[in-house]
Amino acid sequence: MNKTCEHVWTECIKVIKDNVTMQGFKTWFEPIRPIKLENYILTIQVPSQFFYEWLEEHYIDLLKSTIKKELGKEGRLEYSIVMENSTSTSKPYTVKIPTTNRRALKNPAVNIPLDHSSTPIKNPFIVPGLKKINVDSQLNPNYSFENFIEGDCNRLARSAGYAVANKPGGTSFNPLLIYGGVGLGKTHLTHAIGIEIKNKFPQKTVLYVSSEKFTHQFVDSIRNNNQNDFIHFYQMMDVLIIDDVQFFAGKEKTQDAFFTVFNHLHQSGNQIILTSDKPPVEMQGMEQRLLSRFKWGLSADLQIPGLETRIAILEKKMYADGIELPKEVIEYLAYSISTNIRELEGALISLIAQASLNKKEVNLDLAKQMIDKFVKNTAREVSIDYIQKVVCDYFDLPIELLKSKTRKREVVQARQIAMYFAKKMTKSSLANIGMHCGGKDHATVLHACRTVNNLHETDKQFRRYLEDLEKKLSIQ
Ligand code: ADP
Ligand code: MG
Repeated sequence: MNKTCEHVWTECIKVIKDNVTMQGFKTWFEPIRPIKLENYILTIQVPSQFFYEWLEEHYIDLLKSTIKKELGKEGRLEYSIVMENSTSTSKPYTVKIPTTNRRALKNPAVNIPLDHSSTPIKNPFIVPGLKKINVDSQLNPNYSFENFIEGDCNRLARSAGYAVANKPGGTSFNPLLIYGGVGLGKTHLTHAIGIEIKNKFPQKTVLYVSSEKFTHQFVDSIRNNNQNDFIHFYQMMDVLIIDDVQFFAGKEKTQDAFFTVFNHLHQSGNQIILTSDKPPVEMQGMEQRLLSRFKWGLSADLQIPGLETRIAILEKKMYADGIELPKEVIEYLAYSISTNIRELEGALISLIAQASLNKKEVNLDLAKQMIDKFVKNTAREVSIDYIQKVVCDYFDLPIELLKSKTRKREVVQARQIAMYFAKKMTKSSLANIGMHCGGKDHATVLHACRTVNNLHETDKQFRRYLEDLEKKLSIQ
């Protein structure tokens, strides 16, 4: 075989690119380097253990099929993991993975976990020379990993955060930038990382600071002429968390100071964790040199949680506060407030407060009244989830059926009705509605709306269904 490893990998990459998202490709495939091809075994170099685990977890099938395509059925893949920023001077170690047998990964006979004897890693608790200062980390113990519910919406950010917590400064996720809309858990997640690091490495100096506080301190330091102290203080951190960096926008001097701190920390292998409301490409008013540094590590987003995650978050919160509420109330809250976890929690708290003040039992009616008051100002819209639930309850169908692809007559009809109301009562696109209702395309949704309109004109019984449902859905 006269192919080179570069050649084989270039061919693989072409296929992979077509099969993963842009962001996925940039994050997980661009950093890979082919290093060896021998006996049908392609060795690729990945930046960390976590990286390799992620590839194995999420892309194994794709990798397997592309390797086989390029190298035939003999083809195998091996990973070589480089411990970037590692304190150890040892050579990279290699993990052998027969791509034909994925389960073998969990099998101790395979040469995975680190062989500690051959790759000594310095004890992180020994901090030579440096005089450590006593810094209050400013971490809120309630914002722990334990209290952070995992869902599809936060999986990447959460696992990357966890990887960073296990090896601050020692993964390729430096800086780790977590971005996402208001109230989706950015602050919570960064605290969780900080808390976890403090638990694992009590000697490490961790500091959480909001970008506003950083800015104020910096302005004060100019006024008091002790700018250097300010910079030095921040350069002492092993782990620096800066929340909401978008507020640095337009503040050039503060950005300069942050740039200096950033470079120092990064060069000395210390961990930087940032949050922002947008990904670096969309940030405005930020110096280019900062933006490019933000992209050095990993940017991971927090998305709007799905219904199940919202319910799980409410249940966790209830449990933590020692309260019990009827399931239907929790579901109603989760159905009604879908885009902001802080609002969701706020609604739960007001509901409990109201109930205890008025010595009323918390039932669905009270929840409905309260939610209306609570979300009145936020241009409330019924969610597709809620419409589906009401329609399914009405026809006594399990919601899974409605979301499935089944073509059973009664399900098709209920699904069409749900699509019709979703079109009528929400601002969702036809494509989005289709996606929520059994993965249909926009043409199907359009067809459903027409069918429902026709039946509304021609079928008395059907019209009654629609009127009943409309009443249930419009909560005044
Ligand atoms: P952001 O900083 O993105 O605006 P926060 O971190 O302040 O959002 O989160 C808002 C509220 O939602 C907090 O009370 C937080 O505990 C809660 N929260 C967010 N995500 C989760 C989650 N995955 N599990 C549990 N609680 C969460
Ligand atoms: Mg925040």
